[in-house]
Parts: sequence; structure tokens; C-alpha cells
Amino acid sequence: MTPSGSAVDHDYKPEAEVVDLCRELIRIDTSNYGPEPGPGERDAAERVAELLDEVGIASELYEPEPRRTTLVARWEPDGTDTNLSPLLVHAHLDVVPADAADWQVDPFAGEITDGCVWGRGAVDMKDFDAMLLSVVRARARAGVAPRRPIRLVFTADEEAGGMQGSQWLVDQHPETINDCTEAIGEVGGFSLTIRDDLRLYLIQTAEKGMNWLKLIADGTAGHGSMRTEDNAVTELAGAVSRVGNYRWPDRITPTQQGFLDAISEALEIDLDPDTVEETLARLGSISRMIGATMSNTANPTMINGGYKHNVIPGQATAAIDGRTVPGGRAEFLETIKELIGPKVRFEHAVDLPSVETEFAGALTEAMQASLLAEDPGARAVGYLLSAGTDAKAWDRLGIRCFGFAPLRLPAELDFVGMFHGVDERVPTDALEFGARVLDRFLAIA
Ligand SMILES: [Zn+2]
Repeated sequence: MTPSGSAVDHDYKPEAEVVDLCRELIRIDTSNYGPEPGPGERDAAERVAELLDEVGIASELYEPEPRRTTLVARWEPDGTDTNLSPLLVHAHLDVVPADAADWQVDPFAGEITDGCVWGRGAVDMKDFDAMLLSVVRARARAGVAPRRPIRLVFTADEEAGGMQGSQWLVDQHPETINDCTEAIGEVGGFSLTIRDDLRLYLIQTAEKGMNWLKLIADGTAGHGSMRTEDNAVTELAGAVSRVGNYRWPDRITPTQQGFLDAISEALEIDLDPDTVEETLARLGSISRMIGATMSNTANPTMINGGYKHNVIPGQATAAIDGRTVPGGRAEFLETIKELIGPKVRFEHAVDLPSVETEFAGALTEAMQASLLAEDPGARAVGYLLSAGTDAKAWDRLGIRCFGFAPLRLPAELDFVGMFHGVDERVPTDALEFGARVLDRFLAIA
């Protein structure tokens, strides 16, 4: 019988390989350019398969299209309690592209400078890919089982919405994961320093919906020198301006309320609804993301129309990046209709629902306990993510999704700015911390 437990009771180091693996995975350029297959998703998935195979864990590779590779592995060695439902542990292998000219270092070299691993994917999310592999390999070598069965899923295409990754897997091979009841992945588990002896660890329990709209204005094409009653460019410009300038009213979801309460308690202040955003500003750069979770948002991002200076085009279009709080979609679409007026219409380019689960239950208690064991100043709190993740796909199978990729971060690091940013980097000691927390978590989750 293989023992359960964690590195605390056994002789292995869950963090032993995490830094090297993170560097190695960064060096496999898995840039996602949208529908075109990028250079490295298959290479990365094959390398992960090899790393798992070395410690006796078999995996399956799936490709909806050549080179868009997703890996699934069942890990339930002797000692796992197979009466328990499996836990889905997922991480994407693709990254957003990086323009080397903007960076201080080569974004695909995986260099270590100033105590950090630098490179595209360092926080999104080759850090967690590496933590997971380091922990699983160390446990497998030491013969230490996780408490419950684990499904490891490494996906392609997360950065473009998962149609060639998680969403495809749920559509085509739900049998690989549909007995999972809970999942952990990005974006959460990172620390926000309140005081020397208090760090909030933000666990994602909800994420906004994506309503990417194409606005279309039709008019009468004609000569640019003439008077015109229905100029598509004029109509579209007015609509875009009204949408972009609209101040969306606050819509506080249960997750957001819980988060605001936790902030209020941690800062030992009452949050006045009228000045809540000023108070959040005290939290530093993370306030940019938290601010965006107070309401629906709609940002114009592209505008198109016309082909010649003296020709009025018959049509003009614009793109709106709309994000909706849980429960906020219907109000969002109603408001957009009013704002754009009767002469402009819209189509959905992307329509993905929001996701929300309660920050409660044994799994969140296991997160808190494993964080606290490694950081006595840790306090786990649920929060609403302004962006979207693969959780949108797993949620379709009724799986409760949590963002839990633990990192203890230095107070001064602009962590939110690292996501898709230049000079993306992660402290090596944060990676090692994360591996130790994850190891403890797998013993009790
Ligand atoms: Zn990500």
C-alpha cells in the first residue's frame, strides 16, 4: 500500500524541479496567434507527456487540428481513495505572443535575473505547469499518492478562448473529465500584501462573461462631396463614442461582496459604497483589475470603414470588448441596444457566459490550510476575475472551478501587470513556495 500524506511526512522535495521546469517550458515558444497553429503547442504537450511517462504516468494527446495539442492524464496511484470524485487540475500550455524588441531580456530564453525567472508565460501560466509537474513527479518517484484521484489536463488555445483546447475537449471528449466535481487552475492563489503579518491569497471563484460584439452601421454609399442623410461612418462613430463613454453602474455579485468584505476586514475600515474605488486604489496595481469587476464593461477596440478619402462607404463596423458580471448579460445587451440606437446593429463575435461558485466547502478549507502551513500570515479570500479562463469550458460539465495556483509574492511586484505584459517574470522562491503548498493541498484536497 502506498502511503498518502505530503513531503512533511515523507522524504521528497516537491519544489525540487519547479524552477528548471518553468525555464524549460518558457523556452518552448507556444505563442498562440488565434486560428493559425503556433510554433510549439504540440512540442510542449509532448514534453509534458515525456515528463509524466518518466515517472510512470500515462497520458493521452488530443488534437482537434494538427499541432493544437491538449494532454489528459489520469493519476490515481495505489493509496488514492478511488471512492472520492476526481479533482481536475488544469493548466494551459499556450502563451500570448511577445515582441522581443519591447523586453529587457529574450522572452523565450527563460533567464534568471534578480531572483526571478523571466519570460513569456512566467506567470501565465508556465509557472503552474511547472509547479504541477514538479509536485507530481516528486510524489510519483517517492510513491506518495494524492488523497483523491487527479485528472491532469494541459490545454492548448486557452489564450484564444479554448475552441481548439478546453472547449473542444468538453464537446468531443467529455468522458475524459466529466466525473470530476471540482477543478483548480488559473487565475488565483497569489498573495496581496496587506501588512507584514497579513497576506490575502486571492482564490478565483468567479469570472466575468465575454460578450465581444461587432457593431455594424449600414448607410448609403456615395460621393464624398455630396450632402448625405445616412452616412454609415457618422452613425457608427456616434454609437462607438456613446458605448465607450458610458459609465456602467456597479453590480455587486455575491463573490464581489465577499471579496469587498474581506478587504474591509483586512484593512480594518468600513467600505463606503460611494468611495469604494478610492479605497481599493490603496491596494496598488491590483485595483485596476478589481475596479473592472464592480460592473459590466464595454471597450471599443477596433474600427473599420471606407476605402477612399472621397467615397462614403455603405458600411462601417467596430469591435467592442464587452465583459459581464455574473448575472449581468441581459442588462448588458439591453444597454448596448439603447446606446447604439436604431441605425446600428450588433452581432456576437464571442459569447461566453460568466462563471461563479461559492467560496465555501472542504476544498477551500484545504486551500486555506495548505497556504497557512507555508505562510503563517495567509488568509484565503474568494474573488471575481475580470477576464476569462478555461473554467468556462469545465463549468459546462457542472464542475466547480477555482483559481488556485499558489504564489507568495513580494509586496512591490506589479503582478497583475505581468499578465500578457512585457518583462513578465516570477520570483523563483514564489515558484518553490507554490510547489510546497500544492503538495500539501493534494494530501488533503
Ligand atoms: Zn492564462
